[in-house]
Amino acid sequence: MKKDTLLTHVGRNPAETHGTVNTPVYRTSTVVFPDLESYETRDPGDYKSMRYGIHGTPTTFAFEDAVARMEGGYQAVAVPSGLAAITAALCAFVKTGDHLLVTDSAYAPTRMFCDRRLRANSVEVEYYDPLIGAGIARLIKPNTRAVFCEAPGSLTFEMQDIPAIAAVTHARGIPVLADTTWGTPYFFRSFERGIDVSIHAATKYIVGHSDVLMGVIVTNEKYWLPVRHTVADFGYCVSPDDCYLALRGFRTIGVRMKQQMANAITVANWLRGRREVRRVLFPALESDPGHAIWKRDFDGAASLFGVVLQPASREKVAAFVDTLKLFGIGSSWGGYESLITAPHPEKVRSATAWNPGGPTIRLHIGLEDPADLIADLEQALGQLG
Ligand SMILES: *Cc1c(COP(=O)(O)O)cnc(C)c1O
Repeated sequence: MKKDTLLTHVGRNPAETHGTVNTPVYRTSTVVFPDLESYETRDPGDYKSMRYGIHGTPTTFAFEDAVARMEGGYQAVAVPSGLAAITAALCAFVKTGDHLLVTDSAYAPTRMFCDRRLRANSVEVEYYDPLIGAGIARLIKPNTRAVFCEAPGSLTFEMQDIPAIAAVTHARGIPVLADTTWGTPYFFRSFERGIDVSIHAATKYIVGHSDVLMGVIVTNEKYWLPVRHTVADFGYCVSPDDCYLALRGFRTIGVRMKQQMANAITVANWLRGRREVRRVLFPALESDPGHAIWKRDFDGAASLFGVVLQPASREKVAAFVDTLKLFGIGSSWGGYESLITAPHPEKVRSATAWNPGGPTIRLHIGLEDPADLIADLEQALGQLG
């Protein structure tokens, strides 16, 4: 089946739900059993049947199954946020005394968890150059338990060579974990690229409508139970209403992302031609240093990219951002609407320096007509002088 057909049909079975097109919202804490024997022999390793509400309901399973099958993984588990997906996945692999390799371009709260929580528990966290590729072999120690990637980083957009990293990491028997929020299960087949545990902020494009916080961890068969047991140990669960909305959003991820990618490329190319702009950080553009890897490994691009402006004061950058009318100022991305922030990537690096020669802004391009977005950017760029 082609992926758009699969996306339309996964995660629902009208024959089992009285003919409803969508899997309904099942609300329950308790699940009752027909007799004591079946209750007492329920399998604690079976996370895909009804045992107790915390482990999921048919609504949860439908969403998890849809994501896992689209991405080509073994199974998936939904958790309350993207950050919860990252922290639970990391806790499944590292304990006191272990060594963990994390890309220097990782999402800032991932670093915070590593620095505040894991280091407090004597996990040796080491940040590495996102462009290291097969060179990661030099950093692997006898106590290395996981390599964490994020491609591209959501502030600096450096593309990582995940197949090269995975080849040398797997040769030492170590799993590759990756935050694949930008790639999504629609545009990035993580498991074919060598990722063992794929972590998504479903909050972004999967939900797609800026109205639900959720994370989802997809694994291969080998690492399913360690990850799923960890999620159970933390007591993480998601509401069936949120899962219903997430699966409803996921149904249209293909059309949304294809349109948003086209809009983003239009806006990014226009920005590239502006004298106020020094560089556009977007692997989907041929001018980007990560373009060849993106083209080899991804089926498409998210509509989130960075722009390095020519040197300008913070006041001028703020005036530019504040003058925009169609771009919301705020965290997150992956919804249908355009957003802007002015991050400081240089403050969240330690293994490598980030000195792009001007202030960075980050744009998320929504489903608006790109001509209107360009007109809005044009009127606001005047603020930069
Ligand atoms: C937003 C984001 C997360 C965290 O998702 P939440 O649901 O907000 O916790 C993780 N990784 C990346 C790359 C993100 O952009």
